[in-house]
Amino acid sequence: MTSKKRTGRQQAFAQLPQVDRLSLHPDISKLMQQFPRQLVIDQLREQLEKLRLQLTEMPPEQLATFQLDQEALVDRFVREISRALAPKVRRVINATGIILHTGLGRAPLPKQAQQSLIAATEGYSSVEIDLETGKRGDRHQLVEALLKKLTGAEAAAVVNNNAAATLLALNTLSFGKETIVSRGELVTIGGSYRIPDIMKKSGAQMVEVGTTNQTELWEYEQAITENTGLLLKVHTSNYRIIGFVAEASLPELVQLGRKRGLPVMHDLGSGMLIDLSRYGLPKEPVVGESLACGADIVTFSGDKLLGGPQAGIIVGKKKYIDLIKKNQLARALRCGKLTFAALEATLRLFLDPDKLLQQHPVLTMLLRDESDLDRAANELQQRLAPIVADLGEVQIEMGLSEVGGGSLATESLPTRLVRLQLHQFPAEVLAKRLRLNDPPIVARIVDNRIALDVRTIRPDEFDAIAAAVSQILNGE
Ligand SMILES: *Cc1c(COP(=O)(O)O)cnc(C)c1O
Repeated sequence: MTSKKRTGRQQAFAQLPQVDRLSLHPDISKLMQQFPRQLVIDQLREQLEKLRLQLTEMPPEQLATFQLDQEALVDRFVREISRALAPKVRRVINATGIILHTGLGRAPLPKQAQQSLIAATEGYSSVEIDLETGKRGDRHQLVEALLKKLTGAEAAAVVNNNAAATLLALNTLSFGKETIVSRGELVTIGGSYRIPDIMKKSGAQMVEVGTTNQTELWEYEQAITENTGLLLKVHTSNYRIIGFVAEASLPELVQLGRKRGLPVMHDLGSGMLIDLSRYGLPKEPVVGESLACGADIVTFSGDKLLGGPQAGIIVGKKKYIDLIKKNQLARALRCGKLTFAALEATLRLFLDPDKLLQQHPVLTMLLRDESDLDRAANELQQRLAPIVADLGEVQIEMGLSEVGGGSLATESLPTRLVRLQLHQFPAEVLAKRLRLNDPPIVARIVDNRIALDVRTIRPDEFDAIAAAVSQILNGE
């Protein structure tokens, strides 16, 4: 009995191909042209090892009838190896409806920014040279004039992200001194950006005033000592406190700052260059308005509503911006030419507000109207329905999209969801198969069914979604 079992297993093992022979297969050779040969061989060894393990654990009755289909095996290996060796940073179809999805790289860039990126990377670029004089320049100047024009600021600097911008500003203006901030504004963004922690790292000492829902101007005033360096106001970008609420306004803080000779900083988070309420959206703070109120320093993100690359933008009074640029930390937090290329192109779009909406993907998605979403949902449904046929269901439902990225947090935008259900797959399994597609498709699960939110899907991505569903159903 035992010897028979062993033979069954041995026979099964004997069917496994050798790595050397596998590498001669035309499909595998093709892989070796696409990827480094040694990596493909390592992957083949891994795949075979997995198979051996499966055979070791296979019950004897199953082993007795085990027949390896060599061609199917090669197909599977090719699929899995291509997946394993594919680049990690890949284009993804965002079917979540979350416009500024931090996990998916936040803002998709405008065409103009994409072109600038290519132009700046094809050869050398003018990142830190003054082309007039030929002398070493200041990279902040690449976008400084634009930012001054668009916000009314005296000066501007750009660093890696808004977390870096606030860290650098606090470190420059308040190192070893006290920064006064309201208890209602100690925000956490995405779990890893927390005002108290960034404050500690900056070397500024945080002095909290007021309560969660009530902070009045006199409380800031009372907290000022001879060691106070800065008054800080933080936009509560991803939450709202409603009800019995009081806060000191920015103009009030500015007045207090002037009276006591203290700079005032406003961390806007998203921050916008134009007033979104002109398009019927709720108002997100406008950078120029904070400056007009007298804020000395305003910080905001490049890849939230601004719709550009990841960056932290610092605008304000020249005397403070000069100090910020000279800070050694600025060197550690600086951005590269790619960021400047994409940021400059994105900022330029704001010079022409009439064309902005068509050219700015984040604003375009934010402002898609319901008839447009209806049309898109119908088209996607009609593409998927014949593929799914009686193997599942494809329905259109009303839903809500989120802006994401801690912007317009309390706002949800009415949208259309294409609800996809395939009888043979639980929703989690289908979601995973969609993510592992090439290109990956990231969707939400709502009430145990996949929800494809058409707001963030481009019409030219419908083909890829249809192909993915067809492949999943055909067991490929
Ligand atoms: C988003 C946000 C930040 C962090 O900005 P990043 O660009 O993600 O680093 C800081 N402060 C506020 C108020 C924010 O909303």
